[in-house]
Amino acid sequence: MPDHSITLKKGRRAADQEDKVHNRWHPDLKPIVEISPGDEIRLECIGYDDYQLKDTDSVEDVKKLDLSRVHPITGPIAVRGAQPGDFLVAEILNIEPLSGVGYSAIIPEIGGLLKDIYPEPFKSAWHMKNGNKFAVSRHIPGVTVPAMPHPGVIGTAPSAALLKEWHRRESPLYDEGKAYGPSPETALPSKAEIAKESARTVPARENWGNVDIKDLTLGSKLFIPVLVKGGHLSVGDLHFAQGDGEVTWNAIEMDGKITLRIGLWKGGHAKYQSTWPIYQPGWIRPQFSRVLTFAGLCVENGKQYYLDATVATRQALINTISFIRKLGYTGPQAYTILSVCGMQMKIFGIVDVPNAGVGVDLPLDIFDKSRLAKVEDLLSHIR
Ligand code: ZN
Repeated sequence: MPDHSITLKKGRRAADQEDKVHNRWHPDLKPIVEISPGDEIRLECIGYDDYQLKDTDSVEDVKKLDLSRVHPITGPIAVRGAQPGDFLVAEILNIEPLSGVGYSAIIPEIGGLLKDIYPEPFKSAWHMKNGNKFAVSRHIPGVTVPAMPHPGVIGTAPSAALLKEWHRRESPLYDEGKAYGPSPETALPSKAEIAKESARTVPARENWGNVDIKDLTLGSKLFIPVLVKGGHLSVGDLHFAQGDGEVTWNAIEMDGKITLRIGLWKGGHAKYQSTWPIYQPGWIRPQFSRVLTFAGLCVENGKQYYLDATVATRQALINTISFIRKLGYTGPQAYTILSVCGMQMKIFGIVDVPNAGVGVDLPLDIFDKSRLAKVEDLLSHIR
């Protein structure tokens, strides 16, 4: 049994969870529990959608999704003795689904890296099978996604100075919709002074936050900086599985419970002075036996870009999607598969001017044999 356990009211939105769940970053949030370094804690977490998505075949819920309620995160957890300059060493011990249903959506306007190509809403509901080892969806038949659970959001409270710095650098982007302003109406906690100053959880920042790193699976160790006294760690946005880059903006998003051991490394952050995350990936990695890699270079619609890894990524995704469509899937289904299936992405070229190069490793093992039979001519050439 863990030393501490935070439970939530089953199936209820964040606003009904009596301050155990918040959805903004702020230095003054009151901790819900205080632990000692080395303690284990289990936390129940609401999915990123705050129970707005339903297990139906309709996309009305996707169209109506209020994204200012993203992300409900459980916490903050105060760690005794933690001071700025220290690292929290969070070890991920276990993650399990709560309801056993997860969702992946293509959301209009949000849409991810190919939102111009796939502007329409699409939703897949995923059911966890075989003791939560796999997920399948009636909306994308013929695909089995292995479990690689990890938290999308994990982070510490920012200092007051850092919160101000985030607003300084992000606020010029608010009007163009390239960053999200505070949206105090749906902020939790709702206390006016905090709501109007607090930061949205969408981007990853110096405090970690919405890092969406698929390799933060069981056994991973995360060195998260302490920026306020006590650290104030919060966790949520659990993912059953995700592809590198979470390219549609959604993994298989689920409610669940996570067990962490939280250590304290006095002076670690002061010594290593890292602005951005350092972690040891977990031991649950994709064990796919057959992988085919599809590349992209930074040339789009005849336009030459310069060492642009984002354009190269788009091209690699488009290349992969055109292959997945040959297995009998629609574009939105193929795009979703890449965002949820544990796909690995790599930059293989970033110096050969003018073309950056990106590769998408598509695991063929996730597809049923009957789907793969449609591309047997290509597969007959590989191991
Ligand atoms: Zn998520």
